[in-house]
Amino acid sequence: MADVRRWTRQLDDKRSRRIVFLSHCLLNENTRYLGGACRPGAVRELVQACLDSGLGIVQMPCPEEHAWGGVLKRRLLWFFGSKGRLRYWLRNVLLPVLLWYTRRVYGKIARQVADQVADYQSSGFTVVGIVGVDGSPSCGVRRTIDMKRSLELVGQLPPTADAGDMNTIIRACLAEGSGIFLELLRKEIERRGLGVPFLAHDLIAELQGSAAPLPL
Ligand code: SF4
Repeated sequence: MADVRRWTRQLDDKRSRRIVFLSHCLLNENTRYLGGACRPGAVRELVQACLDSGLGIVQMPCPEEHAWGGVLKRRLLWFFGSKGRLRYWLRNVLLPVLLWYTRRVYGKIARQVADQVADYQSSGFTVVGIVGVDGSPSCGVRRTIDMKRSLELVGQLPPTADAGDMNTIIRACLAEGSGIFLELLRKEIERRGLGVPFLAHDLIAELQGSAAPLPL
């Protein structure tokens, strides 16, 4: 331990020792639901604000990518436009199974992210915040999506549906509360007494072409 302290002091450099954790798609919108990417890649103004503040950026894993079938979330696409088929009528039976599996996968990722936060803190770094995405069923901080309603509506998507139709569904299914991943991550952070603030990027504002700056 004394060696760590000595070398850290002796090899002092330009690192700011201030870190922010961002939801994956804030740096890479290629993992967003189909129709939900407003940018080719990163949310530039948010990333720029972090860079201007001298923050190191940790990109959290996209939980839906891991639980719902890769970057295109293929397990969910199975329900799209399914009205009239057996799987549409079975959706309310399948949803609890999907949610059970989702919580298992997300719980593991939440523990890994909390491990990383704890490592930064115990190494003398400040984690200034964890930024989620309001309006996401996984990463929402204050606003999530009603999954039952959204499965019903995506099942009714016509063959001609476009990104606008998909985002109309997202707006119609907004609900108060945290997304599943952020809920589990917050519990893990609180259980360990890590004391990191949670902040939200607003997906709906982004879809409308504006996004309020975060207090970073
Ligand atoms: S909001 Fe979360 S789950 Fe949705 S694309 Fe972004 S990182 Fe993935």
